[in-house]
Amino acid sequence: LNRRLDGLGTTIFAEMSALATATGAINLGQGFPDTDGPEEVREAAVRALRDGRGNQYPPGPGVPELRRAIADHQRRFYGLAFDPDTEVLVTAGATEAIAAAMLALLEPGDEVIAFEPFYDSYAACIAMAGARRVPLTLRAPSFRPDLDELRSKITPRTRLLLLNTPHNPTGTVLTDEEQRAIAALAVEHDLLVVTDEVYEHLVFDGAAHTPIAALPGMRERTVSISSAGKTFSFTGWKVGWVTADAPLVAAVRTAKQYLTYVSSGPFQYAVAEALRLPDAYFESFRADLQRRRDLLADGLRAAGFEVYRPQGTYFVTTDITPFGEKDAYAFCRALPERCGVVAIPNSVFYDDPDAGRSQVRFTFCKQDDVLHEAATRLRGLA
Ligand code: PMP
Ligand code: GLN
Repeated sequence: LNRRLDGLGTTIFAEMSALATATGAINLGQGFPDTDGPEEVREAAVRALRDGRGNQYPPGPGVPELRRAIADHQRRFYGLAFDPDTEVLVTAGATEAIAAAMLALLEPGDEVIAFEPFYDSYAACIAMAGARRVPLTLRAPSFRPDLDELRSKITPRTRLLLLNTPHNPTGTVLTDEEQRAIAALAVEHDLLVVTDEVYEHLVFDGAAHTPIAALPGMRERTVSISSAGKTFSFTGWKVGWVTADAPLVAAVRTAKQYLTYVSSGPFQYAVAEALRLPDAYFESFRADLQRRRDLLADGLRAAGFEVYRPQGTYFVTTDITPFGEKDAYAFCRALPERCGVVAIPNSVFYDDPDAGRSQVRFTFCKQDDVLHEAATRLRGLA
C-alpha cells in the first residue's frame, strides 16, 4: 500500500457489516434500507434489461434520458437550470463523483476544508489526489459550523470547500444563512465548492434543503453531487450524478472516464423514471423516515443514550458517556456480543479520534419492527 493510502485500511462500513453478518446482530451500522425502492422503478430496470437498453456501454456522460431527468429534477425542486448535454454527468454512485471531483480539481499540496466528522471517502479521495484535508469540526450538541473558524482556516493554499448537507453522520442541515456565509467566503477567496447532497430529500420537521449552487455567485464555482441510492432506496444500483457549469463538468468527466469509463446502463433508465416520480413520493418517503427517526431516537433515549436528534439523513448520532463508557470503537466492537446490535463509531470520522471518542451512530432506514427490537435489545445495556 502506498503512503497516500496509509491508515485507510478497511472502511468502517465494511468492517461493521461483516461483524453483523458474523454475529447475526441487527445491523443499524451501514446506511442501507431493508426495504427496496418503488416497484415501478424496479420494473423500469427490468424493462430496460429486457429491451436491451443499456446492456452495452452507454454514453460516457450518462444516457440522455437520465441526464434530462437530472436537469429536470434540479429545476423542479430548486429552480436550477442545467444543460443536460454539458452540465450533467452520471457517475457510479456519489462515491465516484466525489473521487472524480477530487482527482480532477485538486493539485498536490492543495488544501481542502471539510466538515468533521467526515464521510470516510472524503479523506481517502483527498489523500489519493495528493491534497491535504483541513477539518472544520462540528461540535456536539448542536453540530453547527463555526463560520469564524472556517474563515480562519482559509490560507493561500486553500482550493476547495467540501460540504455535505444534510450531513452524515450528525444529521445537521445547513441553514440558508450558514450557506450564504459560506458562499460569501468562497466568492471572496475564489474557492471551488464541492457539495455532497445525497440526503437532499431526507430533511425533517419542515426544514428545507437549499443547494448552495442556487446562491448568488455560486453557480460557476460549485460542483453538486447526489445519488439515487438514498432518495429511492436503491443503494446497490450505484447511480449518482454531478451538476455544475460546463467547464467543471468537463473536468470531472475527464477523471471519471479513467475510473469507470461509464456507469451501469439499465439502471440509468430506471433512475430516469424514478426522478420523475410525483411530489407525493418524495413527501411520503420523508414523512415515513421522520417517523422512524422519532421511533429510534426515543428508543435510544429510553435505553440510556444521549441522543442528538438529526434534522436530516437517516442517521442518529448518540453519546455513550451515560453508560460510563468512553471508547465508541470498543463499544461498537462489543455491542453485537452484548446485545445483538451493530452501530458505527463516529470516532473514526475525526482526525483526532478523541474529538468523537464517545459518539456512536445508528441508522433508522429499517422497518419498524426491526427498530423496536433493536431498541428493546439496547435497553438491556443499562
Ligand atoms: N456521500 C455520503 C454523505 C454518503 O453517506 C454516502 C453513502 N451513501 C455517499 C456519499 C455514497 O453514495 P453512493 O452510494 O451513491 O456512492
Ligand atoms: N453511506 C452509507 C453510510 O454512511 C454507507 C456507504 C458505504 O458503505 N460506503 O452508512
